[in-house]
Amino acid sequence: MPARDALQCLKDGNERFVSNVRSHESLANEARRMEVAAGQEPFAIILGCSDSRVPAEIIFDQGLGDLFVIRVAGNIVAPSQVGSVEFAAERHGTRLVVVLGHSQCGAILATIDELKRPTTNQSRNLHSIVDRVRPSVEPLLRTELRNDPDALVRDAVRANVRVSAGHLRHGSEILEQLIAREGLVVVGAEYSLDTGVVDFFDGVP
Ligand SMILES: [Zn+2]
Repeated sequence: MPARDALQCLKDGNERFVSNVRSHESLANEARRMEVAAGQEPFAIILGCSDSRVPAEIIFDQGLGDLFVIRVAGNIVAPSQVGSVEFAAERHGTRLVVVLGHSQCGAILATIDELKRPTTNQSRNLHSIVDRVRPSVEPLLRTELRNDPDALVRDAVRANVRVSAGHLRHGSEILEQLIAREGLVVVGAEYSLDTGVVDFFDGVP
């Protein structure tokens, strides 16, 4: 499925989710399970946050076999995430990648806290996540936003999505080739915890 059509499927699915017209029960039944047991052809790759309130299949109203989902706190891009996207795009021919951030993301809040009041006892593993978010947040703390906590978080969430999407577009030779020659598209989006709406705001074709 071309990237543009895949994007439309996600937009339509999110609209169904928001308007409470749910169909995912019909997409996760036994017949569908048998159908996809033989092989998968996901139409979109989602790199989203692990936050329990943002499950990709539910908010896009999709079923078994539809989405190839990678979830990690703060939807950061480390080598294993790049590798997962490369794998899905090459193996399954998936042509749309969505980096999906969300409002009030805990990883962003933790990074802002850490930058304002550095701690020394944070676990090294947790630190590796904060370190990946830090470059998107740090410049914002040098602007007037530092005095407006809500606006700071909002901008930081989007900046972090843009950085992750940019990293996927330029941090892998395989993905660069797929973008240049095979119509692969990487877009950035934000999910609102309050409204349930996904806003595709970065790199939309
Ligand atoms: Zn999050």
